[in-house]
Amino acid sequence: MNWNKPEVFAVQHKDEKVRASSRSGGIFTALSDYVLEQDGVVYGCVLTEGFEAVHVRADSTHVRERMRGSKYIQSRMNDTYKNVKYDLEAGRNVLFSGTSCQVAGLKGYLRREYENLLCIDIVCHGVPSPKVWKAYLAWQEKKNRSKVKKVDFRNKKDFGWREHIETLYLSNGQTVNSKAFTTLFYGHSILRPCCYECPYKSVTHPGDITIADYWGIEKAAPEFDDNKGVSLTLINNEKGKEFFDAIKDQVKCKETRLEDSMQPPLIAPFPEPENRMNFWVDFENRNFDYIVKKYGGKGIKNKIKNALRRIKRKLIK
Ligand SMILES: Cc1cc2nc3c(=O)[nH]c(=O)nc-3n(C[C@H](O)[C@H](O)[C@H](O)COP(=O)(O)OP(=O)(O)OC[C@H]3O[C@@H](n4cnc5c(N)ncnc54)[C@H](O)[C@@H]3O)c2cc1C
Ligand code: SF4
Repeated sequence: MNWNKPEVFAVQHKDEKVRASSRSGGIFTALSDYVLEQDGVVYGCVLTEGFEAVHVRADSTHVRERMRGSKYIQSRMNDTYKNVKYDLEAGRNVLFSGTSCQVAGLKGYLRREYENLLCIDIVCHGVPSPKVWKAYLAWQEKKNRSKVKKVDFRNKKDFGWREHIETLYLSNGQTVNSKAFTTLFYGHSILRPCCYECPYKSVTHPGDITIADYWGIEKAAPEFDDNKGVSLTLINNEKGKEFFDAIKDQVKCKETRLEDSMQPPLIAPFPEPENRMNFWVDFENRNFDYIVKKYGGKGIKNKIKNALRRIKRKLIK
């Protein structure tokens, strides 16, 4: 049974290399290392060579490493639920990680509790459509006349944890830093329809442990605020607490107040944008240049809007 109010911690992995390659503070690596050390298996999301997000099984750190980092697109589950059940029935310790709806889906599929299952869900803004992601990559390849070799959905290394800039590494050796896909993401029209009615936008979640970026860390635990990433960690039940206690020597952590840790996805789903239908009609009928100009923050109207927003922010300060 999950508690009505989680215990809240600010967490940073002690190994700086782990933290640098994780989206937030690296709590996922600490927990998955522990499960792998117990001869367990870990399920999570990786990016394929074709840049699709899919869930896979890892029984070594080598595959688990690929699960690090946020892929801001809906991941495909394939046979994951079936494989998790197989591992659980075979007595293996299993860590399953994913969005809250993926964790709830797994629990619905299993239809009973398993002592040997640990579920971690991520606080989730919503998942963008893989179709738009694919069109975006094709647009960048055409524009830059080169194939994409590698992507970083949110380049923490060069821009810090707070910034959100996507980086594409091209075959011709060039690097493209862009905010076009990020802007489409935050415009919300490319989210899956179910995300506008997400039942997990609250402080309670289906996972044993819920992890997120620690927005508000400057108030909740200013001594952790180094712009290199902090994991907001919500312990939702006794099992979550047991696992968290077991990895505490791997991390630097501090218990914090829930009231200082609230972010919009812990409160309510984002409403469906009024222009969502227009976006999809345009997406199906226009080229991607048009989409980026109109919805991706590149057009003159967007530039004026952003400049006005910046001025307004300065005046409020
Ligand atoms: C689609 C999406 C939306 C997010 N929205 C928010 C948000 O609103 N607020 C916030 O604070 N943080 C958000 N995050 C970030 C998330 O909170 C961090 O991934 C989490 O804090 C893990 O941090 P870590 O340092 O332990 O990381 P890492 O080691 O980087 O963690 C990786 C974990 O993320 C999972 N993961 C990565 N991509 C996906 C995917 N596409 N689908 C399912 N699971 C995935 C992996 O399986 C793994 O468990 C989002 C991430 C994603 C993928
Ligand atoms: S916002 Fe909710 S419904 Fe959408 S992917 Fe995230 S958890 Fe699932």
